[in-house]
Amino acid sequence: MARSRREFLTRGLISLGALSLGPEIVTRVFQRSGHPSLPHGVDAAGIELKGQNDPFLKEAMFYKKLDNLRIECQLCPRKCRIADLERGYCGVRENRDGTYYTLVHSRPCSINADPIEKKPLFHFLPGTTAFSIATAGCNIECLFCQNWQISQFRPEQVKNYHLTPGQIANAAVQEACRSIAYTYSEPVIFYEYMYDTAIAGNPKKRPSMAAATVPEYSTSSPRLAPELTPATTISGSTSSKPVMARWTQSVGVPST
Ligand code: SF4
Repeated sequence: MARSRREFLTRGLISLGALSLGPEIVTRVFQRSGHPSLPHGVDAAGIELKGQNDPFLKEAMFYKKLDNLRIECQLCPRKCRIADLERGYCGVRENRDGTYYTLVHSRPCSINADPIEKKPLFHFLPGTTAFSIATAGCNIECLFCQNWQISQFRPEQVKNYHLTPGQIANAAVQEACRSIAYTYSEPVIFYEYMYDTAIAGNPKKRPSMAAATVPEYSTSSPRLAPELTPATTISGSTSSKPVMARWTQSVGVPST
């Protein structure tokens, strides 16, 4: 279905305004999943992130253990070395007793149905919408980040929802979204959630895409790549350019 430039811009502006949560879509998604309203405990303000019973806690996929309960995260080129009870630069991964955890699995803070052209993809399922999600946190600090309200905050500092990968895949179908997008913040920081959701979306013919600043990560990309259909590269700000240059040089991928 062709979409006029005016319609695209209008929908883009609406989706920008809805970035913080996309309340209507969130309400629909939760109503369909059997919750009469937002489920208890979903709002991060009421969640004890430090508790061992955190339902969102999931061991990180890429890290190595060091001495004295320290770990080295191997998810992105920052390769943070983290002492016990500390977090990495992105603020969403925490060392607990020498085991490294992601705190944002199944914990999106932004949900919306965006035109796929906003990802930006022009020749992949044109004219359709992508079920778009993000979590709090980011591994870079672009000076003019338009999504700083989520990217520069930790999960306990923003309002979150609880949506499992399976619920995301179902919601994409119910919202007539032809694909699932990991976007708004740098999606590598919620890698495990992205990976599991991409796998959950495949049987439902909902291909996944990552709108990433640096789409290739030498350690983690090979495992994720088969699950993602397209990946797009977005230029970072002046502040992130030296970092991007180093990263893209180190992994052999030209930035755009
Ligand atoms: S993903 Fe986060 S914790 Fe891991 S290396 Fe990158 S910034 Fe550090």
